[in-house]
Amino acid sequence: MRKTTRQVKIGSINIGNGAPVTIQSMTNTRTSDIDATLEQIWALQQAGCELIRVAVPDQQAVKAFAAIKSKVNVPLIADVHFNPQLALKALDAGADKIRINPGNIGKRTELEAIAKKAVSFGIPIRIGVNSGSLEKELLKREGGPTVNALVESAVRNIRLMEDFGCEQLVVSIKSSDVLKTISAYEALSKKTHYPLHLGLTEAGPIKSGTIKSSVAMGVLLYQGIGDTLRVSLTGDPVEEVFVAQQILKAMGLKSKGITVISCPTCGRCAIDIVPIAQKVEDHFRYTEKTLTVAVMGCEVNGPGEAREADIGIACGKTSAVLFKKGEVLRKVRQEDILTTLIHQVDTWDGS
Ligand code: SF4
Repeated sequence: MRKTTRQVKIGSINIGNGAPVTIQSMTNTRTSDIDATLEQIWALQQAGCELIRVAVPDQQAVKAFAAIKSKVNVPLIADVHFNPQLALKALDAGADKIRINPGNIGKRTELEAIAKKAVSFGIPIRIGVNSGSLEKELLKREGGPTVNALVESAVRNIRLMEDFGCEQLVVSIKSSDVLKTISAYEALSKKTHYPLHLGLTEAGPIKSGTIKSSVAMGVLLYQGIGDTLRVSLTGDPVEEVFVAQQILKAMGLKSKGITVISCPTCGRCAIDIVPIAQKVEDHFRYTEKTLTVAVMGCEVNGPGEAREADIGIACGKTSAVLFKKGEVLRKVRQEDILTTLIHQVDTWDGS
């Protein structure tokens, strides 16, 4: 059961109050390099990213943001730190949402100016609390970026924004520590009705970052916590989108796309299915179809799993048995397994 939160609209996308959990990512090109940033935005969009954040670190970037915004149709979020003037200009540049960290954006009066302008433009703000940039006095009092410090910073900044009349808020409360992130979001979700943006900050390179993010977000999503998520990986942000989709699919929050069920192989496996399973997943990464494909190594678990999937292959010694919707279609020669699976998915219409 998902926790009920207030709904916030970011461009054409709703988050919160039962809307599907949305996938976000962030470009890692220099924003002032408009062509490179556009290329990455389009790649992210093609991969299924629904909200895209762009860093706005300087004047050149804010000008580029306006140019980029005019050429894309995905909601674009401006990420601004340290400089309140840039946040104001990002609103003029057409940002669909502003992400700020109130702990570093400036004085109260400057925060008030950003909040009031965002309200007048009807643009939401994400309060992005991060363990690496908490208020100094909170760090001193709590002895570091503890769960209490993270939650107090978030609650304090929510109240501040509310005082300025801003109630179109999304909140994140990120740490690079899995357990701390889980505890912080659990505590915050009890204290606020604003939609929560899930994320593990500085999660690491692709493999370890994927595992840590999946554990943290899986635990939270299982409890109904989280309205949008960003997987932060050191690498191509397109990978973040793929991982986010897999997390949502595993949690039953997304069905679109291909799900590959494949065995780990063992000494019984006579046909090398490892490249077959990987190629099927890669080939259909961006498919709009919803189906499961089983790629199984032998007769122990193969027929059972292949029969349960929409399309399945259970390998024998030199050939495999092809299943579709639980029925045996035919035998397939070893060298034809991959092309057969690709053809079956290509022509899959659910019937
Ligand atoms: S299905 Fe067969 S090959 Fe695959 S892990 Fe199980 S026993 Fe091994």
